[in-house]
Amino acid sequence: MSLLVQKFGGTSVADSNKILAAARRAIQAHHRGEQVLVVVSARGHTTDELIALAREITDRPPAREMDMLLATGEQVSVALMAMAIESLGVPAISFTGAQIGLVTDSFHTKARIKNISNDRMTQALAEGKIVIVAGFQGMDENYNITTLGRGGSDTTAVALAAVLGASACEIYTDVDGVYTTDPRIVPEAGKIDRISYDEMLELASLGAGVMHSRSIEFAKKYGVPIHVRSSFSDAPGTWIVGEQDARRLGVAVTGAALAKDEARITILGVPDRPGVVHLLFQTIARANIVVDMIVQNVATDGATEVSFTVARGDLAETLRAAAAAANEIGALGVTHDAAVAKVSVIGLGMRTHTGVATAMFEAIAAAGINIQMITTSEIKITVLVDRAAAVGALRAVHKAFLLDEVHARPQLTFFPAGSTTGAMKLVPLADPDANGPREQGMEDLVIAGVELDETQGRITLYDVPDRPGYAARVFQAIADAGVFVDMIVQNVSQDGQCVLSFTAPRDAVNRAVEAITPIAGGQISIEPAMAKLSVIGVGMRTHTGVATRMFGALADRSININLINTSEIRINVGTDVAKGKEGLDCLRKVFALNHES
Ligand code: ADP
Ligand code: ASP
Ligand code: MG
Repeated sequence: MSLLVQKFGGTSVADSNKILAAARRAIQAHHRGEQVLVVVSARGHTTDELIALAREITDRPPAREMDMLLATGEQVSVALMAMAIESLGVPAISFTGAQIGLVTDSFHTKARIKNISNDRMTQALAEGKIVIVAGFQGMDENYNITTLGRGGSDTTAVALAAVLGASACEIYTDVDGVYTTDPRIVPEAGKIDRISYDEMLELASLGAGVMHSRSIEFAKKYGVPIHVRSSFSDAPGTWIVGEQDARRLGVAVTGAALAKDEARITILGVPDRPGVVHLLFQTIARANIVVDMIVQNVATDGATEVSFTVARGDLAETLRAAAAAANEIGALGVTHDAAVAKVSVIGLGMRTHTGVATAMFEAIAAAGINIQMITTSEIKITVLVDRAAAVGALRAVHKAFLLDEVHARPQLTFFPAGSTTGAMKLVPLADPDANGPREQGMEDLVIAGVELDETQGRITLYDVPDRPGYAARVFQAIADAGVFVDMIVQNVSQDGQCVLSFTAPRDAVNRAVEAITPIAGGQISIEPAMAKLSVIGVGMRTHTGVATRMFGALADRSININLINTSEIRINVGTDVAKGKEGLDCLRKVFALNHES
């Protein structure tokens, strides 16, 4: 008998009628002969209201008590849902996170799942009951109630689908699928039929609030197909699946995302020697802050600038940690900007960035918006812009990639009608070898491999004017010269000038330089050969320690890092070409990868 997990978000259980409607959906699946496990969120805006209530009492509520409070929202929902299902004639039983032994670590308000014991759920399912589980919550080893972070019910649902070997996890919400961008911001956004785990991971971590990004980490690790769909209609939604099932031919960009509440921090005059970046990010990681968009350019005069972004809410704490770190490493100072936003495009089809980067930068320039920082990964390009201009930039980019015409773009048929599983292979949790080294906790970081690429060279432009249109012109010229660009990094300006670096195949470096010389304006430096070292996995950004471990391992071997870009699925650094093999070796050791990767 196959098992289906259905998760209902806040709006889908907001009142008694909606709870009854959700109950009917679960019952329908039950009558089709499936075992059904339902995960529910707190009703409507309950979680927001509970947070507001706590703030009326104190500005700094203890995190443990916050969890105690917030978990009540989901407890109300499970009880009501079980009553609804029983009232419609099907036996049901509700459980809190603690009651199903969902054990987490002790980081209150952002706990990670370590373990789930499925005995109680399996038994109730075998008795023919619909099982209802409270999303978003668990307990630590000392029986303290914990929560997984805002939006965490998605993660509960996918984790349960993984441990119970469900055929799929259905996410019922107030939109009928994953859109090319948030339809509340860009009404022309189109629904995506299928999207790969990696694309969804990037989209979610770059601001698409429709799925909790950690739920996608689970889905990818354990091969759980996710179906995001509307609570209020029967229309098919979006399947989030493995890459082989999600690839769309001829489409470079799948979606765009906006993260509005960001803050940028820059450490000025960072001494250009091994170990310094490591020290910096170690200090910040210790404060458990998720750092994003780390951008480091090539040094001038023995010093470099390192910029990164954090959620605006983490700014004060980050500045404290950054100031301490800057002092320790002998940097010149720290600046910040609390009024910035990130705009990103994501797509598996973006193997090289040349065409996509050109089109993205052009669209933003045409809207008269200045790009403050740029960073790329294999399947995304992110730019940092002024918050006030962010929605305009998102719209411009969305339009430039014809994302509003998603239905007219090539589509492949996916799951055969009536099947919810397709050819997906589930990786059983019990198989210790399936996911590399034995995991301590279900949500632990999984590193899939480390890589060395010695085929590229690097070009750096100095004195880049800090105004709209420059990046667009540079990458247009490079595209015209037929050069494929891989990493692009642009740091925030100091005194109206920035530094822009990019990498290209070694044999194309000279051609690229010739193409940009007439428009560059300032000095150009060339590194004809470099080594690009990458650590690849899932959840690289949310596990704050990965970058730190990578930088630390390289520092221990005195390998200097001269270019960084990060994403949810990989961290890339550029180093001296002569140090590439040694770097690869030490990264294999530190991430316990014994095999050739
Ligand atoms: P739930 O309470 O069901 O978990 P959420 O509010 O967490 O619902 O997520 C659904 C919302 O996510 C949508 O209403 C939409 O505004 C927002 N959203 C952001 N980005 C996207 C996207 N790319 N596609 C669909 N919805 C998105
Ligand atoms: N109720 C929690 C929140 O609002 C969890 C969730 O809805 O996923 O964040
Ligand atoms: Mg949600």
